[in-house]
Amino acid sequence: MCDICERRAVDRRAFLGLAAAAAVATSAGFSATPAGAAGGPTTDLTPAQALAKLKAGNERYVTDAQVCAADLGGQRAHVAGGQAPWASIVSCADSRVPPELLFGGLGLGELFVARNAGNLVDTGVLGTLEYGAAVLGVPLIVVLGHQRCGAVSAACSVVTRNATFPGSIGPMIEPIVPAALAVKDAGGDFVTEATKESARRTAARIVAHSSVIAPLVEAGKVMIVPAYYDLDGGKVAFLA
Ligand SMILES: [Zn+2]
Repeated sequence: MCDICERRAVDRRAFLGLAAAAAVATSAGFSATPAGAAGGPTTDLTPAQALAKLKAGNERYVTDAQVCAADLGGQRAHVAGGQAPWASIVSCADSRVPPELLFGGLGLGELFVARNAGNLVDTGVLGTLEYGAAVLGVPLIVVLGHQRCGAVSAACSVVTRNATFPGSIGPMIEPIVPAALAVKDAGGDFVTEATKESARRTAARIVAHSSVIAPLVEAGKVMIVPAYYDLDGGKVAFLA
C-alpha cells in the first residue's frame, strides 16, 4: 500500500477518534468548536507510531528517490474539508529541507509545518505547535536542524568573531548563540554540533514554555524529538 492510500485508511479510522481529540482540546483550554471547524477527525497514530512513520518515510527518501507519485488533485479533494496531520515539524526555511519531501514524499494534509531560518520557536511557532497538538491532535513534534545551516553558521560566527548582521537577522539568530557557546570547545564540526545542540534546546523550550503542550507530553499524548538532517546523504537522525 502506498503511503497516500495508507493515510486514507488511517484517516477513515481516525474519524472515530474525534470525541477523544475534542476532550484533549477542551482539557488544554481550547473550545472543542475549533476542532470541528478545522475538519474534526484527527489522526489515531500514537507519538511512537508517528515517529516510526517519519523514520520509514525518510528511509524511503534515502533508498528510493522515486517516491510514491502523489495524486495531488485527489489529495486536495480528500483533505479540503478538514485536516488530520500526524506530525508537526519545525524546520529551517532553507530551500533544501522541505519536510514533506525528505520524509518520503508526503502529501497534502499529513504534516503540520512551521518554518523559519534556524528552525527556532518564537511566540508564533509556539502557538502554531500548541494549536497542532491541542486542537488538531498531532501526536509528534520534531525540531529539525540540518547540515550547513546558514542561520546556525551565523550564530557560530557571532561566537567566534563577534560578527554582526543587518536588520532583524542578528536578533533572529540570538536564540542559537547559547547553544553555539555550549559546544564551542566540544570538538567535532562547530556548526554541526551547534545545530544539534540548538535543536535539543529548542525541543526542551517547547515543553518549558508551553502550558498547553507540557501536560500533553506528561500524559504521553505528545512526544517532542530533536532531529538533524544530513544534506549530503538525505538521512534524518533523531537525536532523542
Ligand atoms: Zn538552516
